[in-house]
Amino acid sequence: MGKVAVAFAAAAVLVSCSVAAVMVGRRIKSRAKWRAVVEILKELEEACDTPVGRLRQVVDAMAVEMHAGLASEGGSKLKMLLTFVHHLPNGTEKGTYYALHLGGTYFRILRVHLGGERSYLDVQDVERHPIPSHLMDSTSEVLFNFLAFSMERFIEKEGKESNSQGVKRELAFTFSFPVKHSSISSGVLIKWTKGFEISEMVGKDVAECLQGAMNRRGLDIHVAALVNDTVGALSLGYYHDPDTVVAVVFGTGSNACYLERTDAIIKSQGLLTTSGSMVVNMEWGNFWSSHLPRTSYDIDLDAESSNPNDMGFEKMIAGLYLGDIVRRVIRHMSQVSDIFGPTSSMLSEPYVLRTNSVSAMHEDDTPELQQVARILKDLGVSDVPLKVRKLVVKICDVVTRRAGRLAAAGIAGILKKVGRDGSGGITSGRSRSEMRMQKRTVVAVEGGLYMNYTMFREYMEEALVEILGEEVSQYVVVKAMEDGSSIGSALLVASLQS
Ligand code: ADP
Ligand code: MG
Repeated sequence: MGKVAVAFAAAAVLVSCSVAAVMVGRRIKSRAKWRAVVEILKELEEACDTPVGRLRQVVDAMAVEMHAGLASEGGSKLKMLLTFVHHLPNGTEKGTYYALHLGGTYFRILRVHLGGERSYLDVQDVERHPIPSHLMDSTSEVLFNFLAFSMERFIEKEGKESNSQGVKRELAFTFSFPVKHSSISSGVLIKWTKGFEISEMVGKDVAECLQGAMNRRGLDIHVAALVNDTVGALSLGYYHDPDTVVAVVFGTGSNACYLERTDAIIKSQGLLTTSGSMVVNMEWGNFWSSHLPRTSYDIDLDAESSNPNDMGFEKMIAGLYLGDIVRRVIRHMSQVSDIFGPTSSMLSEPYVLRTNSVSAMHEDDTPELQQVARILKDLGVSDVPLKVRKLVVKICDVVTRRAGRLAAAGIAGILKKVGRDGSGGITSGRSRSEMRMQKRTVVAVEGGLYMNYTMFREYMEEALVEILGEEVSQYVVVKAMEDGSSIGSALLVASLQS
């Protein structure tokens, strides 16, 4: 072999060695990056872990906080607000009633017609629209003018004949924010939640604001009740099934109410109702316990939210927030590794990833996870390999599983407080008569997260059985109430008239 040929051969060996070295180096680097990402996932899983023992601690904490909130004003993070609702609709109501519902994301208007028997419930003309985002930080006048205007358009569509007798239309205002009631039809806003920021509204009477806006438009409408959305859901649940004693909403936010004995509401001694009970709006979104499995993502989300140090439970379980927790995890991963390609600036935009997209990714059943690819692309993350898409599905699973299981613990906490969790009479060695003591209990549930996100629902229901045990669970019925909060509020107004 000539000198030149030798030199060529040597060079070729050198080149291929260094190419191989680069390749190996890259592979090692990419493995290290993958390992870093897997480590983040592992940490997340550990931090979000909710074994049944921990859930039971949350159950106990919920029951304890409920007691404390009922004992004294400000005694707990749970406000346990009086609603002045002590009779729930029973099926004998008659007439036509309206509901206007301001939720966290949507407002709805509907009309119900009742024929005096349960089976004659006719829900008519349900309208549902997203709340224009500029209203969320506008003024109370702008917000309520908009609601009155929407109501006006709704009744215009009915035609004149529907209100020919000239009587006022009776309206329920379903309002999904904390209110301190002075009667069933009046109450002042305590604070905004779910991203609303109209500060001058705090302390104002919510029903009065709506009535004022209706009057300014010359509408023949009487705001007959101011109803928390959970109380609406409870009303519809009870209308269909009088074993309903608890209602929970999982929508943009989350909250619960239940029927409490008035003598247990110690902070309002002397509160007399003919029924001996009153619906209590827990405002459970603000529940907190050191047993809640909190991650650094939750801490950052809270600190950067419009209501820091507030609504800690809601921020772990409700629709507004689950998407943002997932986004924060993905962003963290994309910062330590390039498996998501160059870091997309969109990943830094709060709330850009909605919980609807989380459920679409989580429940993506295409073999190549095309939904995941599409949603990531919308976030500026293109062409990620299948294994990364799978990783994203796993993140959605971890975050939603924790949410569903904590939601179940919350419900079990209420059941414990009202003595329907089986912990009193039913322990080991139960007798038949003891089992008979366990009352059938219906929990009415509504809200977009619960209705539309199957995995959330399944995790919640599975954990409820885990916490309560198979036997007690047979007595606890979770019933979905589509549009329950709006329909039920209209029923409640109907029950006030009869
Ligand atoms: P509101 O909170 O305004 O009363 P909903 O009860 O309909 O309205 O809840 C809406 C919220 O429910 C959305 O903001 C979203 O967080 C959640 N949601 C709705 N659809 C889905 C879905 N398909 N998957 C996951 N979450 C959903
Ligand atoms: Mg709602």
